[in-house]
Amino acid sequence: MKLIFLGAPGAGKGTQAARISAALAVPAISTGDIIRSAIKEGTPLGLEFKRYTDAGCLVPDDLVNALVKERLSKPDCVNGFILDGFPRTIEQAKFLDENGIEIDRVVDIEVSDDTIVKRMGGRRFCPRCQRTYHVLYNKPAEEGICDTCKVELCIREDDKPETVLHRLSVYHEQTEPLIAYYEKKLCPVDGTKSPEEITEKILEKVRV
Ligand code: AMP
Repeated sequence: MKLIFLGAPGAGKGTQAARISAALAVPAISTGDIIRSAIKEGTPLGLEFKRYTDAGCLVPDDLVNALVKERLSKPDCVNGFILDGFPRTIEQAKFLDENGIEIDRVVDIEVSDDTIVKRMGGRRFCPRCQRTYHVLYNKPAEEGICDTCKVELCIREDDKPETVLHRLSVYHEQTEPLIAYYEKKLCPVDGTKSPEEITEKILEKVRV
C-alpha cells in the first residue's frame, strides 16, 4: 500500500500518518521530520534547510526529492509506505512518476484556513524530546511544561502567526494543484472530525 497524505500544514497529516502506519504496518515518512532532524544535526544541508523552513517557504524540489529517493530505497518500504508532506509541488509528483514509484491512493485531509490558523497558533513542542502538544486540544498536565522532560515547551519557528499565513498561501499556490493531478486516486476526508473518526474514514477509503 503506497499512500500520499495531502492537506494544508496543520491539517493533521502527521497524526493520521502515525495512526494509519500502525494500522497497515507500513512506515510513515515525513519530509518535515527528515528536514527538521537535518537542521537539528547542524549539517551544512541542515543549515540551508533552516533558511527555508524558518521563512515558511518550501525547500527546493531537487533537495527534497533526493531525500525521499534515499528514504524509499530502505528495506522497510518494500511493502509500502505513507508519504506525509511529500509531494508538495507538481514537480515532486512528477519525480515519483519518473522514478516508477506508483502511488495507490492519495488521502486529502480537508480543513478550512480559519481552523488551520487556530490549530497551528496553539501548537507547542518539547525542545528536548520533540513531543508535541496543543494549548486547547492536547494539553500537558502542567501548562507550558513537557509531561515527560519537565522542560518549558516552545513554539516551532514556522508555527508563528505570520509564518502560518505565509505557509497557507504557499500551500494554496503550490500544493493544492496536486488535488487535480491525483484526481483519480483521491480519497477526500473531513479533517474537522475527531482523530478516531478520521482514521476510520481513511482506512475505509484506502481499503476499497
Ligand atoms: P511539515 O512539518 O510537513 O509542515 O514541514 C515543515 C517544513 O519543511 C515546510 O514548511 C517546508 O519548509 C519543509 N518541507 C517539508 N516537506 C517538504 C516538501 N515536500 N517540499 C519542500 N519543502 C518541504
